Amino acid sequence: MTKEIRNTQENMITVDLRSDTVTQPTPEMRKAMAEAEVGDDVFGEDPTVNRLQEMAAKITGKEAALFTASGTMANLSCLLAHCGRGDEMILGDQSHIFYYEQGGSAAVGGIHPRPIPNQPDGKLALEDVEAAIRPDNVHFPRSRLIVLENTHNRCYGMPLDAAYMAAIGELAQHYNLKLHVDGARIFNAALSLGVEASELLQQVDSVSFCLSKGLAAPLGSLICGSADFINRAHRARKVLGGGMRQAGVVAAAGIVALNEMIPRLAEDHANAQILARGLAGIKGIKVESDRVKTNIVYLKIAHDKLSEKKSAIDFADELQVRGVKILPTGPYQLRAVTHYGISTDDIDYALNVTDMVLNSH
Ligand SMILES: *Cc1c(COP(=O)(O)O)cnc(C)c1O
Repeated sequence: MTKEIRNTQENMITVDLRSDTVTQPTPEMRKAMAEAEVGDDVFGEDPTVNRLQEMAAKITGKEAALFTASGTMANLSCLLAHCGRGDEMILGDQSHIFYYEQGGSAAVGGIHPRPIPNQPDGKLALEDVEAAIRPDNVHFPRSRLIVLENTHNRCYGMPLDAAYMAAIGELAQHYNLKLHVDGARIFNAALSLGVEASELLQQVDSVSFCLSKGLAAPLGSLICGSADFINRAHRARKVLGGGMRQAGVVAAAGIVALNEMIPRLAEDHANAQILARGLAGIKGIKVESDRVKTNIVYLKIAHDKLSEKKSAIDFADELQVRGVKILPTGPYQLRAVTHYGISTDDIDYALNVTDMVLNSH
């Protein structure tokens, strides 16, 4: 261990494992942003945005792409482009869209959500999806869309493999439904599975992915799909307030992200393995290490360890005082995410602090 455990907040370097959204833009990104050639993107005239969109379409194997301000805006634009009011979408009950996006599809789009259970590996069982598809009947909403999440955030960041993606794609086609993938971390999935992202997305009508997570860009997501679909998503983005004018200033960072930051996600996966195994070895902590395949680790604290500390929130507070931040996600559960800016030494430090807070009383 290279860093001493610190007890005060003075001059502290914090090891922030709450999310890969806390990543800072790289020096190359700052430079590209400063020098970006820009135009009015609402008129389609920002050359840097156009270049980023072409790159995104290519890397996902789709015809066209669209730059959005956030992953939430990307997903909602896609849902609005696929579904009309009263249409139904089938999605996982642990999915980000169902769990963390304010129910925006219902609130803004009048889209009826049909949540079905996520399996521990983040998949939806084929038979559950098929059973949820509505027959044509005046009593029912119209099934229009299936939504998957890859990697699956609330399911340990598990990647959904190409064979499964294709099987759901075939099911969707058979029933004349569309398939959207929330691919916020699709490059983590591809890397973990040893395939190209485009291979995972062959049967998919639309995908959103984030530049602002492990790829370390300051903000932004992309939507990819057919040219016709992207035209409709473009209209949806506009009504959501997503027409961004000289957006090339931020798209420039996205270009650096796609060119340079994808292969280094392997470092985050390796650090997540070290973190998971280390945490599993600490008395009072449970980690399902075999579910850790990418950069997300969930840990559960033994109830007796929390009897005095009350909750995961109090535990997280105690860690934070000592320079380690992790995210409480339930009464006894917390999430730690590895990312650009977190070194193996930082992981060692976090493990030592965690052990000390739990076990040295
Ligand atoms: C982060 C994330 C999003 C989008 O989040 P924004 O904060 O709106 O960019 C969507 N889906 C998943 C799975 C995510 O992890």
